[in-house]
Amino acid sequence: MKNKSITHFYRVDQPHMVGDGFRVKGYLPGPHNLQQEASPFYLLDYNSAHYFQSTESPRGVGVHPHKGFETVTIVFEGELAHADSTGSSGTIGKDEVQWMTAGSGVLHKEFQTPEFSKEGGVQHMLQLWVNLPAKHKHHTPRYQTLTRENIPVVQLDEKGSMVRVIGGEFMGIKGAAETLSPLSLLDIQLVPGSATVIPVPAGWNSLLLQVDGQASIQDSRPMVEGDMAVMGNEEGQIHIATSENVARFILMMGQPLNEPIVAYGPFLMNTQQEIVDAIQEFQNGTFGYLE
Ligand code: MN
Repeated sequence: MKNKSITHFYRVDQPHMVGDGFRVKGYLPGPHNLQQEASPFYLLDYNSAHYFQSTESPRGVGVHPHKGFETVTIVFEGELAHADSTGSSGTIGKDEVQWMTAGSGVLHKEFQTPEFSKEGGVQHMLQLWVNLPAKHKHHTPRYQTLTRENIPVVQLDEKGSMVRVIGGEFMGIKGAAETLSPLSLLDIQLVPGSATVIPVPAGWNSLLLQVDGQASIQDSRPMVEGDMAVMGNEEGQIHIATSENVARFILMMGQPLNEPIVAYGPFLMNTQQEIVDAIQEFQNGTFGYLE
């Protein structure tokens, strides 16, 4: 199998705040407004490692709606708390993932935990928005809480390199999250002096964000923390190699939805009329109530 082509290679260095608890860099749609090229992934906010001072009142984002897609929150360092209008709540700790299907519409809030806030510390995380196909946009809202224990691990070699299968599938191992369109979300962790090859199905989009260390991809392209590589969707593989450093990547790959995208704030629908409807539903209380 041939190495896939790289169609976009970039980094985002200017952060912006989401609420007062998330210092993120917008990789998707991002500087190249990648929409169809990234589908089914629509938005990627990456909070590179950032130290938050101790505080008595937890930082975060207050009550807000979502509709028409899923949010996937991956915590590398730090600890988050969430609560939503279906009555669910919980925490997301180091190396844990929360996969929320907003579907037909939900209200939620996302904060650093009181314990983290009191101590202060490094927060390193990302949030990915996975678009839903039209037939699932009205899916019942739900959370999938993926703990360290229930994310399957595929060992790549004797040295300790591995892939955590968050969603989809890798080497025949099914991921922890149920997905609503064909996609895989992988947490790739390589030790020094390691190399691996990830095949991507023909026609799928694939995006590789480096979240730690140094490596090279497709034989020679150097890559460091904060770099993003977007691949062409011809059949092929992604080749990753480390030399004297560790490297960690989040690989997002999936079959493009090939449907119109109309985005407005926290809503991701297929038509302008559906956006008008979503705003109305939010205002008239259809998404429920959350304090
Ligand atoms: Mn949210």
